[in-house]
Amino acid sequence: MQTFPLFLNLQGRRALVVGGGEPAARKVELLLSAGAQVSLIAATVEGEIAQLIGEARISWAGRSFDEAELEGVSLVIVATEDEALQARVSQAAQLRCLPVNVVDRPALSSFIMPAIVDRAPITIAISSGGTAPALARRIRAEIERSLPAALGRLARFAEIFREQVRRTLVVPRARRRFWDRVFESRIGELALAGDEIGARRELIRLLDGVRHETPQAGMVHLVGAGPGDPDLLTLKAHRLLQRADVVVYDRLVSAEVLAMARRDAERVYVGKRRANHCVPQDEINDRLVALARAGKSVVRLKGGDPFVFGRGGEEVEALVEAGIAVEVVPGITAALGCAATAGIPLTHRDHAQACVFVTGHLKNGSVDLDWQTLARPRQTVVIYMGVNALSMISSQLVAHGLPLSTPVALIENGTTDRERRVVGTLSNIERQANKAGLDGPTLCVVGEVVGLAHSRDREIRFESRVGL
Ligand code: SAH
Repeated sequence: MQTFPLFLNLQGRRALVVGGGEPAARKVELLLSAGAQVSLIAATVEGEIAQLIGEARISWAGRSFDEAELEGVSLVIVATEDEALQARVSQAAQLRCLPVNVVDRPALSSFIMPAIVDRAPITIAISSGGTAPALARRIRAEIERSLPAALGRLARFAEIFREQVRRTLVVPRARRRFWDRVFESRIGELALAGDEIGARRELIRLLDGVRHETPQAGMVHLVGAGPGDPDLLTLKAHRLLQRADVVVYDRLVSAEVLAMARRDAERVYVGKRRANHCVPQDEINDRLVALARAGKSVVRLKGGDPFVFGRGGEEVEALVEAGIAVEVVPGITAALGCAATAGIPLTHRDHAQACVFVTGHLKNGSVDLDWQTLARPRQTVVIYMGVNALSMISSQLVAHGLPLSTPVALIENGTTDRERRVVGTLSNIERQANKAGLDGPTLCVVGEVVGLAHSRDREIRFESRVGL
């Protein structure tokens, strides 16, 4: 983050604006709507500003800037084109540690003004950290479109009951659930539509009901996090992440996906690396059971799909055995994500009528697979966890009949912005992989379809493929 976002309380506080033109008028308007007392410095004033001064809604403190004007001020905005004046005010304000913004001059500003979506009391501020204000404005337009105009009404309605709900439901989690139910139900709709009496009646009924409910039992959702790109989460995964009390995740879950979880959800890392199992599976299972027994809503986030080489089956078994409710939410498995970004069709009318997913995980230094079946022609073989066993995989596939020239793709960190790909053949892929030094999660795809890949942008090229 380039800047620290916050909302400033300016009710009844003094703000100084330097400038008398149109840009200054926009800032004055905003400051007034936040309840600030505005003092203005400008050689001349015109239009709207002159009118505000005439109506005594702001005060005209002087024609030229005097440092004494900074006394007792909480915020300074400079909206003049006079560059010498911009620099002088900025310097004087910063010497006093006063927050100052010079319009369109980030270098002279100690804070920037965000693009704003105003649904008072709901306010959404968007900033590009000063890099692309035009983009921030576009984002604002998108948010504007997606939020009902009466959103503020809903917030004010909720405020009426905030204290009462706080007293009735003392456990924060219970309160959060209650409000989720309010906003998702007819109550929210009634409040938005302006039927406050109807909404009040139903809210009180719900609160009464909830008070007498037995506390909700915990539950575990085994959620597929997809291969890394957060846009590949399912809507359901996203919704559950927004509600989770705890998110239990491992190494394959990308930071971008994890960032989709509710900000104050507890995050528990149970990652393991191939050679160095930090948290044994039994311990993970026990942990999930304990969290659910404590009444929490747990999201167990697993890279890709929970049921594809993810030991999801074992976790479900342990939870069911312990009598915990469990739901599985599928995710996009690495094979599908990587194939899409690499442009490799996993099946193809002419080249591959079947596609198999296997694990290349080494057990006692060996991979135990049915090579005969894998080496069939017109089939795509996708190997998870196979990079360390590439030499055995290639030699076994060749020994069982696949040509040395069969194309192979290795896709590392597929679908993320760290994605890299190595493309070769069964004869050279191992050496190429060593050269590329792949160390992120990597998927191996073997078959004629690799030759059809249309996307080459993230491919690592070697000077010469011949003789590698
Ligand atoms: N459940 C996961 C697979 C877990 S096994 C899924 O459905 O995708 C872990 C292996 O998955 C890794 O060794 C790697 O082979 C593959 N993998 C997972 N995410 C990947 C990614 N973003 N890019 C490439 N391979 C990935």
